[in-house]
Amino acid sequence: MKLSYKLFLSYIIVILVAMIVLLTATAFVAPANFTEQMRHGRGNMTGMMGQQMQALESELEADFRNAVNSALLIAGVVAIATSIGVSWFVSQRIVNPIRSLVILSHRIAGGDYEQRLQVDTHDELAELVDSFNQMATALANTETMRMQLLGDVTHELKTPLTSIKGYMEGLQDGVLPATPETYQLIHREADRLQRLVQDLQELSRAEAGEIPMRITSCRLQDIISLVVKQIRPQFAEKNIALVLDVPETLPTVKADSDRTAQILTNLLGNALQYTESGGTVEVKAEHDGNHIRTTVIDTGIGLADQDREQIFQRFYRVDKSRSRRSGGSGIGLTVAKHLVEAQAGEISVYSEGIGKGSRFSFTLPIG
Ligand code: ADP
Repeated sequence: MKLSYKLFLSYIIVILVAMIVLLTATAFVAPANFTEQMRHGRGNMTGMMGQQMQALESELEADFRNAVNSALLIAGVVAIATSIGVSWFVSQRIVNPIRSLVILSHRIAGGDYEQRLQVDTHDELAELVDSFNQMATALANTETMRMQLLGDVTHELKTPLTSIKGYMEGLQDGVLPATPETYQLIHREADRLQRLVQDLQELSRAEAGEIPMRITSCRLQDIISLVVKQIRPQFAEKNIALVLDVPETLPTVKADSDRTAQILTNLLGNALQYTESGGTVEVKAEHDGNHIRTTVIDTGIGLADQDREQIFQRFYRVDKSRSRRSGGSGIGLTVAKHLVEAQAGEISVYSEGIGKGSRFSFTLPIG
């Protein structure tokens, strides 16, 4: 049964019950009281006077009943008419937004995420419509991100695939010599593809919050020295100084040591990549309120303001061609951000500008 009919019926039932109660009351209680009053007024009258008074009483009682009944009838008709009007008005106020919600949900199911609803009330219905609009916005954002991701992934996959295909065609046509160097080139492109797929897997797991975290109380100093020990030879090879400023007295942090090492490796890898030979990279750890802040400071190429804001977005690379040559896909910092946030920390970047170096820092809670 439709909501508007249900509302109308509920009003009618209330009116009917009220009328039945009223009728019963007036049929039994009111005449009895009326007769009692009359008898009281008549007192001890006897004979002709008494009989005349009794006849008058009966007549008055009948008139009284008729008057009450007609009043009730008029009241009933007015009440029913009012209930029709009120139930129609209320049902329109309730049913119309619900109907619009149904239409909107069908549109969203059909892929149209742009429509929104407006209500001018401040009740639960307005809250429902508000939540629905929020859901539609969230769905629209997810859809935009999905489309963007699809476009980005296609673009990223296309480049190495096109190169591999080009080399293969060159080999087939005899344009390229079948030398170890050519095979090395093809291998390098295949390597990029593999790295990209691995990065994508990591990114999708990070964005879905599916990277398991084993949070324990750990010494950041130990994690830093382990990562630095592993990466130091690469710094030496590129002739970049790697210095540490990590006090031994720092309190322990609540973190997943493997994931923290992954974040630091990513930041140090970037610092190594974007710093010229002869530069310096410093790893610093310090107290910051309830957190320990770890900062990787480099004297490298630095970042412009507009890049700093977008650097943690997936696939974002400042210099697309340079990064592509070096194999970067613009995913590392996005994953790092997810990992830091999953450990209740924050990651940020600061740079005074192009050519003035960068500082990437992340926090982890003390505990
Ligand atoms: P990539 O794999 O391309 O390095 P990231 O997500 O790690 O991806 O970094 C995104 C972009 O941020 C890089 O392409 C680079 O342009 C910029 N970037 C990262 N670290 C630094 C740094 N230390 N100095 C200057 N630019 C950096």
